[in-house]
Amino acid sequence: MSADWLEALEKVLSPGSVLRPDRDDLGAYETEWRGRYHSEALAVLRPDSTEALAVMVQSCTQAGVPMVPQGGNTGLVGGAVATGHRTQVIIQLGRMNRVRQVDPASALMIVDAGVPVSVAQEKAKTHGLRLPIDLASSDSAMIGGILATNAGGVLTIAYGNARSLVVGLEAVLADGQIWHGLSEVRKDNAGYALKDLLVGSEGTLGFITAASLALVPAPKVSATAWVGLKSVEAALGLLDQMRSDLSDHLRAFELIPSLAVELVMKARQAQGLSTRAILDAPCPWQVLIAVDSSDPQAPLEERLMSSLMAVYEAGLVEDVVVSQSESDTQDMWLMRESISDAQQIEGFALKHDISVPTPKFGEFIAQTEVGLQKIVPGLRLCAFGHLADGNLHFNLVPPPGQPDALRPHEEAIVDWVFGQVRAFNGSIAAEHGVGLLRREALREYADPTKWWAMRQIKQALDPKDLFNPGKIV
Ligand SMILES: Cc1cc2nc3c(=O)[nH]c(=O)nc-3n(C[C@H](O)[C@H](O)[C@H](O)COP(=O)(O)OP(=O)(O)OC[C@H]3O[C@@H](n4cnc5c(N)ncnc54)[C@H](O)[C@@H]3O)c2cc1C
Repeated sequence: MSADWLEALEKVLSPGSVLRPDRDDLGAYETEWRGRYHSEALAVLRPDSTEALAVMVQSCTQAGVPMVPQGGNTGLVGGAVATGHRTQVIIQLGRMNRVRQVDPASALMIVDAGVPVSVAQEKAKTHGLRLPIDLASSDSAMIGGILATNAGGVLTIAYGNARSLVVGLEAVLADGQIWHGLSEVRKDNAGYALKDLLVGSEGTLGFITAASLALVPAPKVSATAWVGLKSVEAALGLLDQMRSDLSDHLRAFELIPSLAVELVMKARQAQGLSTRAILDAPCPWQVLIAVDSSDPQAPLEERLMSSLMAVYEAGLVEDVVVSQSESDTQDMWLMRESISDAQQIEGFALKHDISVPTPKFGEFIAQTEVGLQKIVPGLRLCAFGHLADGNLHFNLVPPPGQPDALRPHEEAIVDWVFGQVRAFNGSIAAEHGVGLLRREALREYADPTKWWAMRQIKQALDPKDLFNPGKIV
């Protein structure tokens, strides 16, 4: 493909806006976080304003070049990857990184798409407010990325997914048209909710360039506990108790199997890092609970302790550790946030990001594991995550000493797990999205009418199929 148009484009943009493989190092943009996919991009474009991005989109459209939006490149489904050999451009929004405004009176902030989540969180904090979304990838994931994937995370239990924070959006749509939708009003029923359509569209309908986001009061007191249990049913009983005693304050309820703790310790030891197990005895299932309040007088720790004491006396839990210091709390979160990476230490792990109705999780896990053992005897289940949202990372680790045992059975395993998810009325893509990884599965498992409507929407908003083609639909 002739690159004359790219040279012409470069001339009208600010320095650093165009990176080319023959001249620049594209490694950080072409290498996907998990290493499952690799891009060979025609170029990486890095706009420094919405207007510059609009010029890029116009130029790519005229040249017929597909565009792949990219934020922090932490997505887990291959959504920010360019496909083909140097025929698509990656447009990375990291230079659009201004916090445009924080308005404490209306508890809103307006931020560019390229602001890292942790930067936006810190900015809100300086105004006594909280941006209520938090992921283990918050230091790298960007506002545009979390909105394009409608990310969840540990605070979803209290505040919902990313979509629930969005008051307004600015976006660059087909042919480089700019949609000025940065509303600061929370009530706006004037026409279709375009923002809700763009959120979760994974870059297939256009570029999110900025967002106005709802904030909540910052927490003033918090308490954290790690609980050991015998079964998932016991964890569900504990969740019921926490909801009834502390529902206004419950901020995280993360399920963790003992295998995950074992793997985190093994992986960290292999890196020369020390980590201690939180519980003295390894209970089969464990739960990390966090509560907080914006009322500095709220006796949260006492309330959490007395609630946990009640479930302990009822025989529901085996062991409880309540954090006594900031360092205890950090240790607990470090353990939780290291699970994703740690699984690689045992070889090729298979990961599913699924949801099923929360009360059915015990039954789902038990039934699904029976079928899995028939496919690969000795396979180990490392299902962890956001139990209260009905969302677990239903990950499978090979039997000890057989690092490649799952690889030849990948298709059979995925079919079985997704069949089970369908039987339990759940979702095959709970919070990470579809991207390339789950595109074929979506076609198979989506409701046919929804699939038809999705294709109509894609055709209407991206008639030339230039926004992230091949992803989702
Ligand atoms: C350690 C770790 C923990 C994680 N934990 C969670 C978790 O708890 N919950 C969760 O939901 N996810 C989690 N993720 C996944 C990931 O962090 C999120 O999906 C995040 O929202 C991606 O943001 P990003 O900026 O890195 O986007 P990218 O990876 O760059 O892009 C993701 C998708 O969004 C599109 N996109 C990016 N920016 C824009 C834009 N401005 N406009 C339009 N489209 C765009 C891309 O084309 C791609 O399809 C985790 C990832 C890691 C590595």
